[in-house]
Amino acid sequence: MALLLLMSGCAKEAALHTETAGSEQAVSGSNLYSDTELTETSDSEQTVSGSNLYSTAEFEEEYTYTGNDLGANWSKEGTEFKLWTPTADAAAVCLYQSGDFGAEDLIEEHPMDRGEKGVWSILVPGDLNGIYYTYKVTADGKETEACDPYAKAVGVNGDRGMVIDLSSTDPEGWENDKNPNAGKDATDAVIYELSVRDFSADESSGISEENRGKYLAFTEQGTTNGTGETTGLDYLKSLGVTHIQLLPIQDYGYVDETVADSYNWGYGTKNYNVPEGSYSTDPYHGEVRIRETKEMIQSLHENGMSVVMDVVYNHVYDAQEFCFNKLVPDYFTRISESGTYSNGSFCGNDTASERSMVKKYIVDSVVYWTEEYHVDGFRFDLAGLLDVETVNEIVEEVRTVSPDILLYGEGWTMPTVSTKSGTLFAVQANAALTPGFAYFDDRIRNRVKGQPSDDSQGFVTSGQYASQIKGNMLAHIDWTKEPSQIITYVSCHDDLTLWDKVNRVSAGTREEKIQQNKLASAVILGAQGIPFLHAGDELLRTKVDEAGNVIANSYESSDFVNSIKWDALSDPEIQAVSQYYAGLIAFRNAHKALRMTSAEEITANAASLSEVPENVVAYQIDGTDIAGETAQKLLIAYNPNTSAVVLELPEGEWSVCVNGQQAGAAVIETVSGSLEMEGISAYMLVQGETE
Ligand code: CA
Repeated sequence: MALLLLMSGCAKEAALHTETAGSEQAVSGSNLYSDTELTETSDSEQTVSGSNLYSTAEFEEEYTYTGNDLGANWSKEGTEFKLWTPTADAAAVCLYQSGDFGAEDLIEEHPMDRGEKGVWSILVPGDLNGIYYTYKVTADGKETEACDPYAKAVGVNGDRGMVIDLSSTDPEGWENDKNPNAGKDATDAVIYELSVRDFSADESSGISEENRGKYLAFTEQGTTNGTGETTGLDYLKSLGVTHIQLLPIQDYGYVDETVADSYNWGYGTKNYNVPEGSYSTDPYHGEVRIRETKEMIQSLHENGMSVVMDVVYNHVYDAQEFCFNKLVPDYFTRISESGTYSNGSFCGNDTASERSMVKKYIVDSVVYWTEEYHVDGFRFDLAGLLDVETVNEIVEEVRTVSPDILLYGEGWTMPTVSTKSGTLFAVQANAALTPGFAYFDDRIRNRVKGQPSDDSQGFVTSGQYASQIKGNMLAHIDWTKEPSQIITYVSCHDDLTLWDKVNRVSAGTREEKIQQNKLASAVILGAQGIPFLHAGDELLRTKVDEAGNVIANSYESSDFVNSIKWDALSDPEIQAVSQYYAGLIAFRNAHKALRMTSAEEITANAASLSEVPENVVAYQIDGTDIAGETAQKLLIAYNPNTSAVVLELPEGEWSVCVNGQQAGAAVIETVSGSLEMEGISAYMLVQGETE
């Protein structure tokens, strides 16, 4: 159980400790291995039966399978089961009546035949749609039964796979469903990070009781809170965000799907190609969660929003119990020099993405979600544990299916041990090696609000870091200059919410703290890059437990702590904050100049203002050379000081669209010569034709 305890929220702490290291060198894994089989050492805490032989060129040449038919391939006439397990002496598929683990309802067991590259297969005649199954393999005289790593459907808690006719899970009109933001640039996205459960768990969501906390909550329209304020899907649409990033929806292991009240963020995957069961209205029947996930995505698409999945390929929920590791002993997981699992994730295990069939598995999985579920983007948890080759192969393969897909992740440097020499990891410092992949920028996050979970101050609460933030505004940071590779953000599911952080460190009045919250997001939405907001920052979301304690990492807290409290919108003060955020997004969406696509474009068109009052950050964009932009100039300026200051304006008449109190694409007033900036306020001005 110690391992399980370690796994809870694990990587989050680790990320905090390591992400500020900021090495500019290419990072490579250490080669601690010889090519001889490892033997288990006496100080090993886990029984690790894997071998580094898996990572040798000889093994990979002999056993790398390139077909795209692993798993259960259904047709009405028969289902072909294909399993990659080169280490097995015997393999069989067991067919069951139900998906319940341990239920004694075996229908029949079919021995499989060994074919090339370590792939075992058997064609079972008849229509098996809805039949559950497992694989049973014998290796080294030991028999093991496990779920199919390529299972596309599972029973409750994901212990048995299910054969499925996927076309039967398509909602009506699915063939016409598509990414509503297709054809746009990565920098055109405004990402909003949201948990399926948090979105609607609270009664104030106005979502029907049966769909609260479920995928189907995203299909309800016209919902309101107790005083009639718009909530749910309609609210998301009104905010103007382009992409909804969902916390993990791949089947995870923390929650018992037979128990309604269990809560977890879900950063510990059990079945990578299946949606989580606890968000469905029926986790027992494998087809239900699939259809409901598709209905959710279809509904978001119909309302103009793309869908990004948060995927946790870097480690698994339980390495010893993970089906792939049971069927091919510990193949999926890195083993360190001492013969124990490598633990750079701080979650008990690290995925050996550098191995050919792990790489294939991850690529296949991402492509599957893109094709079958029409997912429009992927956020890779601890991408820094994955190797550069795997990430680039994901980018290449998935873009052939969906050219405009958004791909990004956490590029923190983690203390993992590759099973091959010379492995390069997908970390910020290697951004130039993964040009189609973006990384979260912890620099802007920490400078704007201070470090995530301590008492340190940031720009909005103290005026510090103005000179560094100037660089951030122009996508000019130490590890990249490409706006399409930078996720700009101040808060996410980890650590204190923006409002809780501001509250903790600010010496200001409530009114000033609200201005600081708004200023933080105005910096993000006014910067070059890909802006990312955490759900509820615009509702002054706080995570407080029943005893009044503020919870920084609420991964296993209750709905009481985590759920979005939609009644907040009944408070005019909070309603105004929400509208201000919507206005900032509207302004950004209206001006391509804020969404430039390359370092060259930014250098040619934008520059910081040098003559500015103390602590003020300001930059100007001349839109003449920006693709798709009319000859417009923009001026973006932030005053973190509590007192008003006067900013000398560049020549000409300027239209103010954003000030400290109002925001939008429309003109509030026109000014020239100078601009009086109120204390703790953002300003966005336009010169030339406005849209
Ligand atoms: Ca689950």
